Amino acid sequence: MDRTLFSPAMIETFLSCKKAFDSAFVRDTENPKLANAHYLCKKFLLKAIAEINRGKITTVAQMQKYIGQNWPGDKFGPDNNEKVQEKHIESFRFIYRALTNYVSKPYKPKDGQIIGVNLKVRARVPHTKIYLEDTFDAIAWHKESKQLEFIDYHINPLKPFDLAWPKASFLVKHFLAERLHSRFPFQKLLFTFVQVQSESVTPNFVELDKNIVQLHWADLLKTINEMKASQNISYECKPSCKLCQLLDNSAVNETQEANHPLSRSA
Ligand code: SF4
Repeated sequence: MDRTLFSPAMIETFLSCKKAFDSAFVRDTENPKLANAHYLCKKFLLKAIAEINRGKITTVAQMQKYIGQNWPGDKFGPDNNEKVQEKHIESFRFIYRALTNYVSKPYKPKDGQIIGVNLKVRARVPHTKIYLEDTFDAIAWHKESKQLEFIDYHINPLKPFDLAWPKASFLVKHFLAERLHSRFPFQKLLFTFVQVQSESVTPNFVELDKNIVQLHWADLLKTINEMKASQNISYECKPSCKLCQLLDNSAVNETQEANHPLSRSA
């Protein structure tokens, strides 16, 4: 593991469970587990939505063709496993309905222009050897209102969160936004979470107070320094913890595929 580069997925996994972080990002990175159905669906959904945001897919017919040509059916598991195939069919139906619905009524930033799609941004924390990195599903620039909008797509409902205690992903995105400030001199940042379902598209808008970010910044750096120091420590599982069953390996796969050329362009 690169001990200088950190992503929100890594930080949030570390904060949830140090052993899970150690297994996912430190020890087992050479032997990734098989991707699960949720991860494959989310990844496919993001790639297809990126094509919509780039203006390459605009009609239901184009979307049907894209799904037919790119659906990763072979990655779901063995053909002779009934349960795997049921999950595969269920996933395909969901994605087919969600994307053919989404292409007809995609989320469009009001008075804004999409200026980045699947864009990876990395920056060094001043006076440290720490680099932070994240990938933005889409970024929109609202020139008139001088607002930069980060758009994030998801399938499952958002877990409740308290903006007084923002997650690492908010803090990191807020920090990385400064890298874009010279090109897009924003005065306000907007976080938009778009839930894509088989028959609906629901955006949720969140604004984060800059003072709150500053308040939690020192804690974030403290956590990262703990992560750097956590090498070769043996962790025990907490008794009767079942969290790993709930966590999928998306974060690991996303990290390992972060440099995939198909998924990164402005
Ligand atoms: S089972 Fe619980 S304690 Fe063990 S690694 Fe997973 S999250 Fe951590």
